[in-house]
Amino acid sequence: MTVAKVHQVLAAGPTLSFEFWPPRDEQRFSRVLEELAALRPHFVSVTYGAAGSTRERTHDLVTDLRAASLLPVAHVCCAAHRRDELVGLLHRYRHDGIENILALRGDPPLSAGGALPEGDLRYAVELVELVRAVGDFSVGVAAHPEGHPDCDGDLEVDLDHAAAKLYAADYAITQFFFRVEDYLRLVEGLSARGVDKPVVPGIMPIDRIGQVSRMAEMSGATLPPELAARLDAAAHDADEVRRIGIDVATELAQKLQAEDVPGLHFYTMNRSASVLAVCANLGLAPGRRA
Ligand code: FAD
Repeated sequence: MTVAKVHQVLAAGPTLSFEFWPPRDEQRFSRVLEELAALRPHFVSVTYGAAGSTRERTHDLVTDLRAASLLPVAHVCCAAHRRDELVGLLHRYRHDGIENILALRGDPPLSAGGALPEGDLRYAVELVELVRAVGDFSVGVAAHPEGHPDCDGDLEVDLDHAAAKLYAADYAITQFFFRVEDYLRLVEGLSARGVDKPVVPGIMPIDRIGQVSRMAEMSGATLPPELAARLDAAAHDADEVRRIGIDVATELAQKLQAEDVPGLHFYTMNRSASVLAVCANLGLAPGRRA
């Protein structure tokens, strides 16, 4: 692999990328990975349990993906961590040849009842600075097309924070969303603040109704009423729900491509079927390289 930094890959043209989480069922995951790796993603990212709950499993999957000749991005969350713990984790990634970090604050798992113990760093922007200080990483950050839930609807203040964070980082990947206007408003708001770095839209093909409502509640993403109604009407038919999810994600991806987005990042939920179907609809055949 010659290019090893995500911001360099983004500079070369539109990317296709996937998010995974450290799997519990390794056998099933290896099948999913094999199917999605056939699409030759430009990079793949691996989530991190905010309080460090997946620290080892995230590290192991990131290094396994690198060994499989994929370009991995390790998510790192500063919430509930001491500075020295984060420095140790970043040094370990450097030592293992990992050059891409997604610097996040982190969300408490639902089991933590919505709270995490305080850490040394409060916001993700402070983690971006720490990552820069530790080594020559390419650093991505999260962006929130509908505003982060903590901003209590004050989108302008949220955009100020997002702009300061992206200014310090190399690129952003967005939370999933369903309306292209939300993405465009975010990018325009950042640009108006002088920040024009790549913002890769995150797309989550809906797979199951329970899953999407849970994820939307956590992330603050709005399920448009007409989509909610379509899903409600199909609630008894899992195949139809999946078909709707594929249609909606395909249409969103096509609209985004028409806006010349820097790439498409799929929240795979460690499943392959819907992502493969959307990519096939977009003409992204296995074995292709853009
Ligand atoms: P921040 O950038 O710190 O923002 C959080 C809130 O603080 C925002 O409301 C912001 O406006 C506000 N804020 C920021 N700076 C300031 C400031 N200086 N003063 C006052 N307020 C400020 N979660 C996980 O636990 N593990 C993961 O692996 C993970 N991966 C993700 C990947 C992507 C692509 C995305 C989009 C999200 C991911 N998340 C993950 C979720 C993320 O951790 C949550 O959305 C979290 O609540 C916020 O993270 P952040 O990095 O955007 O935080």
